[in-house]
Parts: sequence; structure tokens; C-alpha cells
Amino acid sequence: MKMKTDLNDLARRVREAARALAPKQTQFLADLIAIRSYTGEEGPAVERTLRELRAIGCDKVWQDSAGNALGQIGHGQRVILYDAHLDTNQVADAGEWPHRPLEPVIENGAMWGLGASDCKGGVASIVYGAALIKALNLSGDFTLLVMGATLEEDAEGFALRSLVERDGVRPDLVMLAEATDLTLRRGQKGRCEVRVRVTGRAAHASQPELGENAILKMMPVVAALEGTNQTLPVSAVFGPGKQVVSLIEGPHTPNSVPSWCEVTVDRRLVPGETAESVLAGIRAVVEPLGATARLPDQPVLTHTGLRLDGPCYFPGWLLDEAHPLIASGQAAGAALWGRPPKVDVWRFSTDGAYCAGMANIPTLGLGPEEEKYVHTPEDQVDLNKLNEAAAFYALLPFFVND
Ligand SMILES: [Zn+2]
Repeated sequence: MKMKTDLNDLARRVREAARALAPKQTQFLADLIAIRSYTGEEGPAVERTLRELRAIGCDKVWQDSAGNALGQIGHGQRVILYDAHLDTNQVADAGEWPHRPLEPVIENGAMWGLGASDCKGGVASIVYGAALIKALNLSGDFTLLVMGATLEEDAEGFALRSLVERDGVRPDLVMLAEATDLTLRRGQKGRCEVRVRVTGRAAHASQPELGENAILKMMPVVAALEGTNQTLPVSAVFGPGKQVVSLIEGPHTPNSVPSWCEVTVDRRLVPGETAESVLAGIRAVVEPLGATARLPDQPVLTHTGLRLDGPCYFPGWLLDEAHPLIASGQAAGAALWGRPPKVDVWRFSTDGAYCAGMANIPTLGLGPEEEKYVHTPEDQVDLNKLNEAAAFYALLPFFVND
């Protein structure tokens, strides 16, 4: 690590350069917002990001097999990945939006538009973090990868998993640029879906006594699942896990005794729970009542045409408070803003479900976006914070210690 005075001087230079690049960064964000990029349809937004990664002078720019946009700076030992996703959730009712979702507008120092706060503001920050490193001709013993990720809204972590496991790019550290209002995040709750099924025997509804009604068989199962809510694992940071029966299905034959019934259980996980532990817990409750439980597959199709279907399981994670990456993030923030950013956890799920939750890669979050605007018609990101986040991302690799 360099001397503290050197680093403070570096922070000053990075901020100055960030100001100078602000118009280009703002334009890039506006261009991204204007491109519709629902999950699985990110192609044009990926193209636009690749173009920007080339323009800022990345040493290597490519699209990986899952269709993520990637730029690389440097060839050093430590591989640091910055991840922000390009896909947005869908607009339910454009009439509720004060500005048209795909027509970016600047108002009161913030840029409004679909995905501004989730997560295109993050993409514009990490790309311009890399741009600053290039503009100032900085280098160190690191390889910086900047990723405009796909598929996050529907299947967080699946595209990142493909980069690591299919394309063989394994970072040593991951920084996520989801909404944090320039503070740090060291974890999140997880989630998974479990399907619980009972079978009965079909019969004509005029003679129900000849059949076995799967709906009636499911009733005690639902009650038993509801009864376990107080016994789920508890985390000191996140509180208790949660479980709700969220969907019920059966054959669409109103004039027959139903031969099967299936419910979906939405489960919110605390760090440490695994797919196996969740399934074992649910099976212990439902199997004595004649039901089976399984983890369904989530269907996932990339914009490049690759199928990435996988278990509907997104584990929670929590980086240890004493992990050096947290101190690095705080020191980089302090060099820029005079005091270390506070450290919290996310209430929502991110790509960290894979990198931290499954691949055990130390992961931290910081982004310019504010959680209160995520998935709302007030979707926006403060342009000053956008610029500050880019400075943070340019600086962080020089604060990462062994
Ligand atoms: Zn997001």
C-alpha cells in the first residue's frame, strides 16, 4: 500500500478528473436509459456499453457467452470485478411516470428514467471509474474487470455464474454497484422457491366419493407450513427467515375431483442456509402428510440464445465485519469524502447471491443510486453522486490490501 499522503493526493486528482469527465458520463447514462433492456433483451444496451468501454480505452473489450459486456484494464495479479446490471424490470403503467420511462430527463440535478437507480447509474459509475484510471494513466498490480451484467432482475447471479463457471473468469474480489447512496453494503438476505405437491385420484365431480381430492389433502400441508414460520433460522443482522405459501395450482378441470395440487413456497433466507437445509426442513414438515417438496428450475434464456436454467435458489451472504475489503472500501471513501462511508446490508437481492453466496468470493457493494427510487416511477439518480461513485471506483483498487 502506498503512503497515506500519496493516496490523499491521488484521491484529489481522481475527483478533479471525474469532474472533467462528468458530461461524458452523464451522456453515457442518458444513452443507456433510452435503450429498452428488459431481462433477456439486453443486446442493444450491451452493444452500447461495449462501445463506451472501447472509447474509454480498455485494454480488452468483449461480450462473454452469456452476453455480459466486459472491459479489462491492466494485467496485474489481483482480479477485481465491478458488476452492475443492464437489465431493468418492466414498466407496469407508463401513465404513473412523471417523465416517460425511456426518455431521460435531468431535473434538480438528477437524471430520471427507467433503470437510472437500478442499475444503469451503477453501470455509468463503474465504466467511468475505469475511464478515470485510463485518463490518469494509473496502474497497479491488479486486473480490473468492468461488467455490464445481464439477467439480474429475473435471475440474479446467473449471468455472473456463467462468466465464472462457463467462461472461466474468476475474480478475487467483487464490487456491486447497486443502490447504496454511496455507503457500503456487506450482505443481503437470500431467497428461494420450493414447490410442495400432493397427488390424489381424479373422479367425476358428480361422484366425488370415487376419487381422492388433492385440494383437501393439501389443506393440512399448508397449515403445517404456516405453522413453521416461527421456527425458521434467525440471523443477528437480518432477523428471522421468512416463508409464505404464495401460489396454489391444480388441474383446470372444475367438474372433476382434482388429482393433484401444488403450492409454491416463497422462502427468504438468512446467510448460512443452503438449498439442502431448506429442502430438508420443509420435507420434515410435509412428507409425514403425504406431500413431496422440490426446488424448481428457473427458466433463463440469455439475449445470445444460451439457456442458463438452474435451481430457483439465491442464497444470502454476509461479509465478515473484519474482512479487509470493508476497511479498503472505507479508506477509499474517506480519502474522497473526508469520512468513511457507513456499512450496512441490502434489503433486496443482488448478483452477490452467486459470487458471495455460492462462489465464496469476497463481495462488497457501493453505488450512487438510492434504494427509495428503485422499481418506482420516480426512478432517478443524482448526477453528483454518479460522479462521486466513479471517483470511488477509480480509487478503490489502490486501497485494496492483502
Ligand atoms: Zn438491481
